[in-house]
Amino acid sequence: MSALSRVSRLLSKPLSAARNLSSKAEDAPQSGFWFEYNDDQKALQDLAKKFAREEIIPKAAEYDKTGAFPWDIVKKAWGLGLMNGHVPAHCGGIDLGVMEDCMIVEELSYGCTGIAGAICSTGLGQTPVIIAGSKEQQKKYLGRLIEEPLLAAYCVTEPGAGSDVNGVKTRAEKKGDEWILNGQKMWITNGGVANWYFVLARTSSDPKAPASKAFTGFIVERDTPGLIPGRKELNMGQRASDTRGITFEDVRVPKENVLIGEGSGFKIAMGAFDKTRPPVASGATGLAQRALDEATKYALERKTFGVPIAAHQAVAFMLADMAIGVETARMSWQRAAWEVDQGRRNTLNASISKCYAADVANKAATDAVQIFGGNGFNSEYPVEKLMRDAKIYQIYEGTAQIQRLIISRELIERAKRQ
Ligand SMILES: Cc1cc2nc3c(=O)[nH]c(=O)nc-3n(C[C@H](O)[C@H](O)[C@H](O)COP(=O)(O)OP(=O)(O)OC[C@H]3O[C@@H](n4cnc5c(N)ncnc54)[C@H](O)[C@@H]3O)c2cc1C
Repeated sequence: MSALSRVSRLLSKPLSAARNLSSKAEDAPQSGFWFEYNDDQKALQDLAKKFAREEIIPKAAEYDKTGAFPWDIVKKAWGLGLMNGHVPAHCGGIDLGVMEDCMIVEELSYGCTGIAGAICSTGLGQTPVIIAGSKEQQKKYLGRLIEEPLLAAYCVTEPGAGSDVNGVKTRAEKKGDEWILNGQKMWITNGGVANWYFVLARTSSDPKAPASKAFTGFIVERDTPGLIPGRKELNMGQRASDTRGITFEDVRVPKENVLIGEGSGFKIAMGAFDKTRPPVASGATGLAQRALDEATKYALERKTFGVPIAAHQAVAFMLADMAIGVETARMSWQRAAWEVDQGRRNTLNASISKCYAADVANKAATDAVQIFGGNGFNSEYPVEKLMRDAKIYQIYEGTAQIQRLIISRELIERAKRQ
C-alpha cells in the first residue's frame, strides 16, 4: 500500500476539511474561538507523536554523536506519509495545510530537532516550487518526491550574504536556452543529500538594480555537472541534519527550470518564509515542550534538603515559566499557520511566532539544564543536547534580529496606513 493511501485511510474525512482550527459551525462554540484539533488532525498528531517516541527518541543520541544522516528514519517517515503532506494533489500529494505541517513538525521535534530537520527541511526547498512553480515544474519535481524518498534543499545563503540576501553573488547568465550558474552557497540544509535544489542567483548585470528585479530562482538537479557539495559541517546542535556549502561551476540549467520568470527570485525566496516560518516555530515549541517534560520528571525524582526539588518554589517557578512559554509559543504558530491557510497575509505573525518560539525554546532548554544541576551539563542526560539544539532556532530562516526588523517594519507600515 502506498504511503499516501495509508495516510488517506487513517484520515477519514477529506483533508481540505481539516485545514483550520475554526472548524465547521456545528462544532464550534458560540464565541467564535475554537482551540481543538478536529479528528483528522488528532489522528495525524497521534501518528507523528508515536513515530517520535518509537523511531526517533531511541536513536537521537546516537545520531547526535555520529552526525550521520538518518536515512533509515527519513525513509520510514516518508513511508508513513509524515513528509511532503503539503504537496498538491495534482502531483500525487494530499494537499495538507501549513497547520498540519506544523503539527507534525512539533511532534517530531519533540523527539529530536536534528532528525526532525532531516525529515522536514525538504519542505523549505519545496516551498518556492509550491508557491511559484508551473504545473509542469510542480508535477516533475514535487511528484518525484512522492514517488521516492528523495529530498529537496533551499540554496540562498552564501559565505558573504545571510541576513542581507541582496548581497548574494552567485550569478546566472543566459546562453541560448540555458542559464549558466557560477558561485558559492553556504549553510545549505540537506546540501549533501538533496535530489534537487531551489537556487537564488543574481541575473541582473546592473549593480544598482533593486533586489525585487535583480535575482532569479532556479530548480537545479543534484547530478548536474559542476554542482559540488562541500564537506558536512560540524555544527553545535541539530547534528543529524546535513548542512554544507555548495559550489556552482558553470552549472547549466535549462530555461524550463526558471521559476515564474527572470527577476522574480527575491520575491519567491522571501515569500516562501510565510509558509516555512510557522513550522520552524512549531519545531522550537516541540523542543521547549520536551525540555519542560524532562525537567518536570527530574524535579519530581531529585531530592535535596529532604524534598523533591519541585517542592522548592524557585524550581517550580522555572517550570511554570517554561509552561507559559510552551503554551504561548504554540498558540503563536497556530495563529500564523491558520492565517496563511486561510489565504491571508501572515508575514507579521509568521515572524512573531518564529522569533518568539525560538526565544522560548532557548530559555526552556537553558532552564531545564539548570534544573538538572550538574547532570544537566553532561551528555548522559537529554537536556544538554536540547540546549545545543535550541540555539539554531534564533539563527536560521532569519535571525532573531531580522525577525524583529520584519515585525517592526510591518507594524510601522500598518501605523502609517491608519
Ligand atoms: C545549521 C544551519 C542551517 C541553515 N540552513 C540554511 C538553508 O537550508 N538554506 C539557506 O539558504 N540558508 C541556511 N542557513 C543560513 C542562515 O539562514 C543564516 O546563517 C542566517 O540567515 C544568518 O546569516 P549569516 O550567518 O550570514 O549572519 P549575518 O547576516 O552575518 O548576521 C550576523 C549577526 O548580525 C546580525 N544582523 C545582521 N544584519 C542585521 C540588521 N540589519 N539588524 C540587526 N542585526 C543584524 C544578525 O542577526 C546576526 O546576529 C542555515 C544556517 C545554519 C547555521
